[in-house]
Amino acid sequence: MTDTRTLIDNDRRHVFHASTHLRDYAHGDLPGRVITGGKGISIVDRDGREMIDAFAGLYCVNIGYGRTEIAEAIYAQAKELAYYHTYVGHSNEPLIALSERIAKLAGNGLNKVYYGLSGSDANETQIKLVRYYHNVTGRPQKKKIISRQRGYHGSSIAAGSLTGLPAFHQHFDLPIEGVLHTEAPYYYRRPRGGVDSNGRPRGEMSEREFSAYCAEQLEAMIQREGPETVGAFIGEPVLGTGGIIPPPAGYWDAIQAVLKRHDILLIADEVVSGFGRLGSDFGFQHYGIKPDLVTIAKGLTSAYQPLSGVIVGERVWKALEDGTGEYGPIGHGWTYSGHPLGAAAAMANLDIIERENLVGNAAETGAYFNAQLKKTFGEHPLVGDVRGEGLMAALEFAPTKGEYTPFDPSLKVGARVAAAALEENLIARAMPNGDILGFAPPLVIDRGQVDEVIARAKRAVDKVTDALTREGKLNA
Ligand SMILES: *Cc1c(COP(=O)(O)O)cnc(C)c1O
Repeated sequence: MTDTRTLIDNDRRHVFHASTHLRDYAHGDLPGRVITGGKGISIVDRDGREMIDAFAGLYCVNIGYGRTEIAEAIYAQAKELAYYHTYVGHSNEPLIALSERIAKLAGNGLNKVYYGLSGSDANETQIKLVRYYHNVTGRPQKKKIISRQRGYHGSSIAAGSLTGLPAFHQHFDLPIEGVLHTEAPYYYRRPRGGVDSNGRPRGEMSEREFSAYCAEQLEAMIQREGPETVGAFIGEPVLGTGGIIPPPAGYWDAIQAVLKRHDILLIADEVVSGFGRLGSDFGFQHYGIKPDLVTIAKGLTSAYQPLSGVIVGERVWKALEDGTGEYGPIGHGWTYSGHPLGAAAAMANLDIIERENLVGNAAETGAYFNAQLKKTFGEHPLVGDVRGEGLMAALEFAPTKGEYTPFDPSLKVGARVAAAALEENLIARAMPNGDILGFAPPLVIDRGQVDEVIARAKRAVDKVTDALTREGKLNA
């Protein structure tokens, strides 16, 4: 058997890794790791080291690792029919069953599902549907899409433009024209200078007042651009990659009122929140959002196969039907749209979620997880904010309590805590923008495992706190 060192050397020579410091990795300054297996909430690498994966891969392995039931469903389908396309009305049995099931879970007139392979490509479809919808309903100027700063919607050209994180734009000439970013619903880092429209210091804004402020910012942007030019708004029910940030109280109501006033379509990006993570089937149900379009991916198959989708509501569907009635078949489709192996994996995944009540577990164990995080880290000298919803949570590190002030970015506090956690064989994610440690464990996690995750995280945070104190960077 090839030794792991040789394998990693070969990897360094030939694999172009996603989201990686390419030079450091190529030259051996960043460790490599070959993952060989997993079971439940843990993965194991080629050296036999077992780690708790408190981020479920990239918040996608919701049913946990090693569920051979899914492998069997994929195998059975592959033997029967591994592939046929879905163009001009061709279908396959798992796809029909899956689509009916998704429509039933979503409700609210969200009845039709278009399939892709990734969250990014599903959001490309969303952008095309927004354009098509407004073109065929006679408003060809109404095309701009408003996203949020810190939103994450993928990293392709158009979906990467919707993403509101500078690292995903830099040196790629993004965002493309027609994509705008409005205020993030980030209460912890709300603007505190100046006074609001009632003359009150902004620093005193309640969550609800901050939500109203976000809605005002959105309204002002729409007015600046001209409401007749704004076609859609896209948002994750809970900001994910941008920092795991649940919305402040009243946020979605306030935003939806603005969108309604200007007849702007609402796209809920449920790639992370769909299929249970917040303790509801969908995040839009959790927050009382009424989307026209919904993006799904990660949780749909728990990443056992690549599969994504766009769920289309009645209003947009009608325009699509009318449009094709007038102009002919829709010019949108991929070779792998509605792939039977993805559909079979998704059906088996949804069976497990239903049978094991993982949505209920995300609500219950998620509430316990968030309570334990608050209890353990609420007063911790390194922690400025503890937040979460369902089985998504984050610790944000700051040198002071109360009003947010950042650490010097060169201290890389978030990355250091994540590295210290890994020394404890705990994977938690250093989020890409700020000193934020993210948690999003598989939905199968139980209370005992939550206690273990928190105990390991505590040791890691304490270790970095001690080091920073010794270095004179923190007055603990
Ligand atoms: C991961 C993610 C995407 C992109 O999905 P990919 O499969 O990586 O292309 C889109 N939206 C959200 C909210 C995501 O978390």
